[in-house]
Amino acid sequence: MTSQEIRQKFLDYFKSKDHLIVPSAPIVLKDDPTLMFSNSGMTQFKDFFLGYKTPTAPRIADTQKCLRVSGKHNDLDDVGRDTYHHTMFEMLGNWSFGDYFKKDAIAFAWELLTEVYGIPKENLYVTIFEGDASENLDRDQDAYDYWKSVISEDRIINGNKKDNFWEMGASGPCGPCSEIHIDLRTPEEKAKVSGLELVNNDHPQVVEVWNLVFMEFNRKADGSLEKLPAQHVDTGMGFERLCMTLQGKSSNYDTDVFTPLIAKVEELSGKKYTGILEDEKDIAIRVVVDHIRAVSFAIADGQLPSNGGAGYVIRRILRRGISYSYRFLDMKEAFLYKLVAVLQEQMGAFFPELEKQGKLVSEVIKSEEESFLRTIETGLIRVEKLIQQTISEGKKVLPTQEVFELYDTYGFPDDLTRIIAEEKGLTIDEEGFKLALSEQKQRSKADSAQKVYDWVTLEEREENFVGYDQIEAETYITRYRKVE
Ligand code: ATP
Ligand code: MG
Ligand code: MG
Ligand code: MG
Repeated sequence: MTSQEIRQKFLDYFKSKDHLIVPSAPIVLKDDPTLMFSNSGMTQFKDFFLGYKTPTAPRIADTQKCLRVSGKHNDLDDVGRDTYHHTMFEMLGNWSFGDYFKKDAIAFAWELLTEVYGIPKENLYVTIFEGDASENLDRDQDAYDYWKSVISEDRIINGNKKDNFWEMGASGPCGPCSEIHIDLRTPEEKAKVSGLELVNNDHPQVVEVWNLVFMEFNRKADGSLEKLPAQHVDTGMGFERLCMTLQGKSSNYDTDVFTPLIAKVEELSGKKYTGILEDEKDIAIRVVVDHIRAVSFAIADGQLPSNGGAGYVIRRILRRGISYSYRFLDMKEAFLYKLVAVLQEQMGAFFPELEKQGKLVSEVIKSEEESFLRTIETGLIRVEKLIQQTISEGKKVLPTQEVFELYDTYGFPDDLTRIIAEEKGLTIDEEGFKLALSEQKQRSKADSAQKVYDWVTLEEREENFVGYDQIEAETYITRYRKVE
């Protein structure tokens, strides 16, 4: 089954169960002071749960573009290093707004996975919330009882608040959840260790695929829980993980969601992807094909890279990709923008924004790449000078202030400075650097609290730029017009 077919089957199934199918909301949130990006499918329905808005239908299903790079859900450090966490991913979801509850949610999920997709039952485990005394929350006995009717009891695992009580952020709707995990190991591996021990334990072949959240509470700003006006269902299934399962692969990156992008990187860099977990080149390729998706979708939704707020997060993701490919793939020239066409080819039919904005997306990325590569080149000259100066002064540690300035003012990646210094037998003052970094973070936190995010409405981009990063946005658009 291709990834397109897998996505469609999900939507068709829930349509057949009377769900209204809606498009994904933008990946970048425009007017939400509590959240920068959609980090789950429920984000766009938050107000339905809170009772601020009337749901458009009692049952809804969709695939949502998600980004987990900041706040409560931040997976950035895992990306590239494991095979199943991405910055940007699709979350397939079905919702009930005061309509069906636990029983049907469990029955739908089970039927879809085992009968429609045909996943062998003996490869699945489920978890339920064990309760939490400190918050006066009981064990989820109802969920346990419903699961017991479809799966043997020894496959139902108790889970703690960290894994089995879902919260969008520091505040907002939340509730106990029940997760479905898949064991993709070979029979020999399974014979060695029981899968029950590996659930929620960072095993690359025993992974969580679907989370069924039973929304019953709202976490208030003061941290306390209050009951929501009604009971709801909110589920989220990792699309790329489902594809891995159904395509018989052992890594999300081996599915057709990623293979066309990897093939293009191989072609452009002349490096071969071997899928090894610790290999620096393979990590770099995973980082690149992951990050290009995050950045492309964000730009297509109107979020240009910039120096503050969500735009800065996007810029840093892109720079991380450039930095990895510069260091480990020997890519010294702009090339990431060439991946946009591949992404467009593969996902443009389902996500029309990518189709429409593809040209702008690749222009913006190209221009970012060129300018950051220049930064890297001039940074290299500065580092070299700093090293000579340090050596001539008979010292072993680079001056902290200058190292931080390179990073902060010039945007030169600190890990590059570190590596180059080490090659010359020098070090950087890690403690001092950390301190400078945390001081800077405090400053920018105070800063961004007062700023409006720089959001650009692409449809009306002629006149409607908002936000303080206006000049930059206009530069892009001027360039964009030129190429047109
Ligand atoms: P994990 O424990 O693997 O980090 P999670 O419990 O944080 O996942 P949920 O918040 O429950 O994830 O999100 C619902 C589903 O979305 C998960 O079951 C998983 O399949 C998928 N998912 C979550 N985070 C990612 C990610 N970073 N990349 C890809 N898929 C993800
Ligand atoms: Mg997680
Ligand atoms: Mg989890
Ligand atoms: Mg989960």
